Amino acid sequence: MNNNKFFFGVDIGGTATKLGAFNVDGLLLKKWEIQTDIAESGTRILPNVAKEILAFAQDLSHVAAVGVGIPGPVLHSGYVKRCVNLGWGDFNPARELSALLHGVPVFAGNDANMAAMGEYWQGGGKGAHNLVFLTLGTGVGGGVIINDHLVFGHAGLAGEIGHIVVNPDETIPCNCGQLGCLDQTASARGIVRRAELLLSTNSTPSVLRNAESLTARDVFDAAKNGDPIACETVRTCIGFLGKAMAMLTNILDPEVFIIGGGVSKAGEYLLNIAREKYEAMAVLSDQRAKVVLAELGNDAGIYGAAKLAMDSFQ
Ligand SMILES: [Zn+2]
Repeated sequence: MNNNKFFFGVDIGGTATKLGAFNVDGLLLKKWEIQTDIAESGTRILPNVAKEILAFAQDLSHVAAVGVGIPGPVLHSGYVKRCVNLGWGDFNPARELSALLHGVPVFAGNDANMAAMGEYWQGGGKGAHNLVFLTLGTGVGGGVIINDHLVFGHAGLAGEIGHIVVNPDETIPCNCGQLGCLDQTASARGIVRRAELLLSTNSTPSVLRNAESLTARDVFDAAKNGDPIACETVRTCIGFLGKAMAMLTNILDPEVFIIGGGVSKAGEYLLNIAREKYEAMAVLSDQRAKVVLAELGNDAGIYGAAKLAMDSFQ
């Protein structure tokens, strides 16, 4: 292939859209960010992306293919039934962007799945063929790679690990309607909620009582210093992550679990708690998966989207 051809990875979020231009060898040449204009049902989002791609490539003949990550379920065909964050519904953004780029091949996937693909290709999962990526942010998302292929699933929902039910004692419904989802406990929101619950139901002294508005980071920092309420919060919340990993091992038997998202900044401390519970519960496996941190941070999505474009194109 011509050396001045480019692949683009695009990660469309509710407020910002990240773009990455890669050469045919997969080297990231440039990354940048634009605002996501969600006005008028998100109709300007794709034209703005097309404009950026054209501005970089100069000529559409230099664009080999484009991959796009979208914050919602995406079918393998690129079809999106509903994407609340962007105001989209019942259309195919991959086909639409391809039309705007005069027929350049465009492939789309869910944003957490794209991040999984990025980590598989250039991050914490490099060299593995079967892996599960979990992103612990405001909520919990994920992605699954089996035999070097991203799993989309029947309705684009593969990797929605946040809504596996792990906590049988939960009394408040998740935003999906179930009780006890992983999303309700191993997310930043879930960790804060658990800490607040413990603070309100017992009188143990805790530095967390002084915090003005509690964050997951406060909880981890206090736990690392031995604060009893914080320690119990983290053990419970991240214990449920380990339990989810054991459940996933019985279904998928991955080589690696990659943990990303803002909460993963707690680092090895978090991994050790997750590992302990995972290893206690993954009773069938004598070759337990490695549990590692994600390496690409916020760039995972553009890497993964570009990789999807490269793989689909060839
Ligand atoms: Zn749920």
